Amino acid sequence: MSHVEPIQLAQDVYYLQVGPSLVNAGFVVTTDGVVVVDSGPTPAAGAAIRAAIARVTDQPIAYVVNTHFHSSHTFGNQAFDVPVIAHAACREQMQRALTDEWSREEIERCCAEHREIAPEMEGFRLTMPSISFADAGFLHIGGKLLHLVHLGNHTPDSIAVFLPEQRVLFAGDNLFNGRHPFLRHANAGQWVDLLRRLESLKFDNAIPGHGRAMERKDVYNLRVYFESLLRAPRLRKGQPHLERIAQV
Ligand SMILES: [Zn+2]
Repeated sequence: MSHVEPIQLAQDVYYLQVGPSLVNAGFVVTTDGVVVVDSGPTPAAGAAIRAAIARVTDQPIAYVVNTHFHSSHTFGNQAFDVPVIAHAACREQMQRALTDEWSREEIERCCAEHREIAPEMEGFRLTMPSISFADAGFLHIGGKLLHLVHLGNHTPDSIAVFLPEQRVLFAGDNLFNGRHPFLRHANAGQWVDLLRRLESLKFDNAIPGHGRAMERKDVYNLRVYFESLLRAPRLRKGQPHLERIAQV
């Protein structure tokens, strides 16, 4: 994994863009350790994120928070060796995936097909969340407050991490920037309502799951885009059309 560079959003709050899919991770530095938000798509990516954090602060890593179970956000968990916090459904989804698309055979087949990622996946073992919550969680650490808010929508287990004092919102894959949202596990019809809910939060920077940080007007524009999609007659009749767009 190549070098990743932290981008500062507010005092003690950063995000990083990792790998060719520009998946985002974030971190919050506190006097009682660092909270990492998502861990990158591979163990090597997780190690690169950890190295980047070490260039910013001497504080140890305290927790990793997973915004949802998708591999781009969780396969780096093992690099941190600390408790992982997530929505209760995240662990369930991971356990299900282990018997299917994340089975040892499937992972090996994927690495054989995409040889460029094989070195990144060396020594992979899935590290699951050990602390979970249902509707909302509050993490008070080192003088900072992180709201963990269940959103669903992109996936049933999707959460946001909101720092009200720093006015930063880590939205996971419920926000995308510069690419079409991935809708495979999503309820597209509810996305507009969800974006309205996100817009009601008092943030200056919103970090999507993929792509560069967004301002409030970018989130508004994404909602307007969804509203126009849902007004299209062919799409209104059935969600499968929308699903097909998402595969592009
Ligand atoms: Zn996702």
